[in-house]
Amino acid sequence: MKALFFEAFGEMPRLATLPDPTPEPHGVVLKVEATGVCRSDWHGWMGHDDDIELPHVPGHELAGTVAAVGGSVSKWKIGDRVTVPFVGGCGGCPQCHAGHQQVCDHQFQPGFTHWGSFAEYVSIHQADLNLVALPENMDFVTAASLGCRFATSFRAVVDQGRTKAGDWVSVHGSGGVGLSAIMIANALGANVVAVDIADDKLALAKALGAVSTINARTVPDVAEAVREITQGGAHVSIDALGHPETCFNSIRNLRKRGRHVQIGLMVAEQSTPQVPMAQIIANELEILGSHGMQAHRYDAMMAMIATGKVEPQRLIGKRIALEEAIEALTGMDSFQATGVTVVDRF
Ligand SMILES: [Zn+2]
Ligand SMILES: [Zn+2]
Repeated sequence: MKALFFEAFGEMPRLATLPDPTPEPHGVVLKVEATGVCRSDWHGWMGHDDDIELPHVPGHELAGTVAAVGGSVSKWKIGDRVTVPFVGGCGGCPQCHAGHQQVCDHQFQPGFTHWGSFAEYVSIHQADLNLVALPENMDFVTAASLGCRFATSFRAVVDQGRTKAGDWVSVHGSGGVGLSAIMIANALGANVVAVDIADDKLALAKALGAVSTINARTVPDVAEAVREITQGGAHVSIDALGHPETCFNSIRNLRKRGRHVQIGLMVAEQSTPQVPMAQIIANELEILGSHGMQAHRYDAMMAMIATGKVEPQRLIGKRIALEEAIEALTGMDSFQATGVTVVDRF
């Protein structure tokens, strides 16, 4: 198979011809039809992820067609159109037994713990547990664009944040994750305040349902600005960027008993940010994480997409060929593409 491949962290990846994968007894091999390019792939390539063993094929936001099926798989057959969460469960640990495959003790992550989807084929483990069928009217590029960003945002807003109609939700950072969260919270009937430092992103946030926007560069105190707009603070607040400052503001702008959900990753020296603990205690705030979404919760998200209540396809940016993914991946840190870049030619 053709695949994007690297043998050393930070070294320019190249296209190579590698052996086609064969399915595990409990797994399938997918023919990759589309795969998203994500900042997590860049972190992986730079060596920021301890799970990756070299040589490596990245890629974790994928959709495809089942091409081969292991002997003990019962739910899937060749030709099925599917996607998969970026964290797959093992099926045997206490977290998996409780239905929390997104924090499985023995996670299967294509593009991290195993070779990923910047390739013509990818092997997926525990297929009966981890695959998600695509609705008939959903194309592969849209399915791949759900990737980690839209699905993680869905879990953050719906399951972790427990957002209700009429709640005020502040979203810090209006990139792919933030815009997804805005769209989902708006669809639930919440009033969204979007915070960013770029006016064009805030305009997009407004187009996707934010009722109010704050440019963090133009106000002296972001949390105070949110409290003013929401008349007392947000019920739910999301750090969609992953920075000590946005995390701090997101907690500080909550009303009493509000919930902060951290989606944006914090790595290396940013991994232990300051939090206003006195306020968390006095106001009984909740601090939550969101780490992907388990396959059995995709149904709710897929139904909202199929009926047009949320439109992840509006966040799709460029469609590129696998050759072009080298540049898209390695350049991820130096420029911010508008929308999700998806590889749809292999
Ligand atoms: Zn498990
Ligand atoms: Zn991703």
